[in-house]
Amino acid sequence: MTHKNIAIIGAGVAGLTALEPLVSAGNTVTVFDKSRGSGGRLATKKLNDSSWDMGAQFMRAHSAEFTAQLKEWQALGWVEHWDVTPWAINGTQRTASPDDIDRYVGMPRMTGLSRKLLEHADEFVTQARIAETQFDSDTQQWLLTTEEGASFGPFDEVIINTPPEQALPLVPEDSPVREQIKGVHMLPCWTLLLGFDHPLDCVFDAAFVKSGPISWIARNNSKPGRDARETWVIQANHEWSERMVDAPRDQVQQDLLEAFHTACGDHSKAADVWLHRWLYSLPADAPLLGALRDDKHNLTVCGDWCHKPSVEGAWLSGRYAAQHLAAKAPASDLQQTTE
Ligand SMILES: Cc1cc2nc3c(=O)[nH]c(=O)nc-3n(C[C@H](O)[C@H](O)[C@H](O)COP(=O)(O)OP(=O)(O)OC[C@H]3O[C@@H](n4cnc5c(N)ncnc54)[C@H](O)[C@@H]3O)c2cc1C
Repeated sequence: MTHKNIAIIGAGVAGLTALEPLVSAGNTVTVFDKSRGSGGRLATKKLNDSSWDMGAQFMRAHSAEFTAQLKEWQALGWVEHWDVTPWAINGTQRTASPDDIDRYVGMPRMTGLSRKLLEHADEFVTQARIAETQFDSDTQQWLLTTEEGASFGPFDEVIINTPPEQALPLVPEDSPVREQIKGVHMLPCWTLLLGFDHPLDCVFDAAFVKSGPISWIARNNSKPGRDARETWVIQANHEWSERMVDAPRDQVQQDLLEAFHTACGDHSKAADVWLHRWLYSLPADAPLLGALRDDKHNLTVCGDWCHKPSVEGAWLSGRYAAQHLAAKAPASDLQQTTE
């Protein structure tokens, strides 16, 4: 591939995975994100000197490639093994549910990993929500405009790494990838973060909950590298979150708090409480397509929703995106190398 000026819209795992091979191949890459930092759904919430993994809770590998990548990141100190035995909670039944899954977390928080991946970028433009994209078919180049009206470019290639709802307005009307983007539905997830001034009397550090509004509970400070302060993450299940998506925040918070107290068995009052609504938490189903490619517009689209709903899925999608640019190979060929 000859030198290209490339824009990546969205500093999630997928976009940041595409970054390194593109820079190593001699391209100039600018990354844009609407947030103040990188990581997307590897989000960290900071509040009153405490921090929580507010999005992805841990990474696990199904493929040999991601297994090797996690080991490499571990050797670099970017991720660490989280030695946890999850419990299973169903109604009043609570049982330890050991498994042989290796769970890894970013160090010292999930966004610690994205920060490392981002170091390859020639430029990272933060608080830049790209609102408009213009492709000039004569010059074969792109101009990008933020919602504040700042313009960037020209770029020879654009990679979009945003959830599908946010990708669609950025894709030309005559692009063949629009139909694939339209077909994906993202599920919401209400997430409650709690901070306590003392350790809770709770038998587990993490639990999968099978009844009521909650699906996952974790003692955030049981993960390696985290501050010692007692912090908990409570995630509602997708069905409940979808039903309650527009419910008053007070009610959502109250319901999740009550369910947490019941599951955990300790009714201490939290010193810090933070409620977050993820509108686009995970794709309802993902099409295992790797990444989407539109050669006519020098456009590539990647993200977990193009491939598999997980950090691993996003990572694989980012790798396919970089391969598209390197080889311009059709997605069907690349698909054969999937796992
Ligand atoms: C609550 C929750 C729990 C999860 N738990 C796990 C877990 O335990 N294990 C696991 O493997 N996965 C988990 N996931 C899923 C995992 O976080 C995602 O699969 C993965 O991080 C997605 O990465 P991505 O690169 O596809 O997209 P994202 O991380 O969504 O990145 C997209 C980026 O695009 C930016 N953006 C959007 N629109 C624009 C725009 N117009 N201009 C500029 N920037 C824009 C966003 O700010 C964001 O940074 C969880 C997700 C959530 C929300």
